[in-house]
Amino acid sequence: MKEETKMKILKKLIFIIIISFVFSLVCCSSKNKQTVDFYSLDTICTVTVYGKEQKNLLSISQKAVEKAEYLLFSDTPEENYISSKAEAIIILPNNSVNVFKKAFYITELTEGAFNMSIAPLVNLWDIKNRTIPPTCEEIDYALSLSGEDKISFDNGKISFKFPGNGIDIGAIGKGYAGDVIAKELTELDLDYGIINLGGNIRVFGQKPDNKPFSIGIRNPLSDISSDIVLTVSIYSGSVVTSGAYERYFEYHGKRYHHIIDPSTGYPSESDLLSVTILSEDGVYADALSTGCFVIGLEKSKNVLKKAIEKNLINGAIIIDENKKITIIGEIDTEIKNGGFSYAK
Ligand code: AMP
Ligand code: MG
Repeated sequence: MKEETKMKILKKLIFIIIISFVFSLVCCSSKNKQTVDFYSLDTICTVTVYGKEQKNLLSISQKAVEKAEYLLFSDTPEENYISSKAEAIIILPNNSVNVFKKAFYITELTEGAFNMSIAPLVNLWDIKNRTIPPTCEEIDYALSLSGEDKISFDNGKISFKFPGNGIDIGAIGKGYAGDVIAKELTELDLDYGIINLGGNIRVFGQKPDNKPFSIGIRNPLSDISSDIVLTVSIYSGSVVTSGAYERYFEYHGKRYHHIIDPSTGYPSESDLLSVTILSEDGVYADALSTGCFVIGLEKSKNVLKKAIEKNLINGAIIIDENKKITIIGEIDTEIKNGGFSYAK
């Protein structure tokens, strides 16, 4: 080979090496991954972001959760939001009026199955600390203090009828907080990220390959959180799941879990193992996942179809007690566990 040709090849090689080096530097810096974990909202929160390094990621994320908590809970009477006086009133911060509007609408849509007025029952069952169920008399009393007719929502105010009525936002808090964190992080110089609030997922931004995020849906029959039944693809929004496996205690071989049926006052005897909702709006996703768990498979199908028609959600994944998976809406899923199959 001529000396001149050799030099040409060498120059080309050096050029390719330099270009690859610069390209890999650019790619690495834009794909820079950061993860922070913290305990909030009664669960482990993990925020993973890709993009320019953010030194204050932890404090920004924690502050966003505090902001969500403030918007939901501020000005509430103490004692777990149970009113101690007749006609007690919660004045909502302006920004949260819409959140409660959405939540009360889901109460309507689920015919009272998603029902924030059950605070007296949630407090009585105290699933995190209890080891034996409350008595029938205690349940009847808490039930008499709960119910849609005990609270009213109007003009940015929530009012209670009698002392002992209350409001519990446990079924919307994480969905809403996911949206608030995502909004705060979207304002930073980041490419994309995934917010995991105890299994409730919120994604934001766009992956460099323009592919969707693949989110694993947990096996409700397993204690291992990484054990998944299927994956679902989403480009944006929330993936929120409710199931009896999340919080419970066992007494005489029976499981008492944290999702209460407002019509009985007992943990819901649902025919479902879990309900997952996909939505651009975390509040709708969270409220509907809880409400649909209570109403069970057949009623959920109708409610969720209506919710899709009204553009509240994008789709849903229902796993029933027969290990059958019902998909509602046009969503892309893939089963990863042979023990489960799609319902016919
Ligand atoms: P999630 O994990 O989103 O299904 O919400 C469950 C939490 O919401 C419970 O820990 C209670 O604080 C509250 N909750 C339980 N049952 C209901 C219900 N039927 N409607 C509204 N909130 C509920
Ligand atoms: Mg919920």
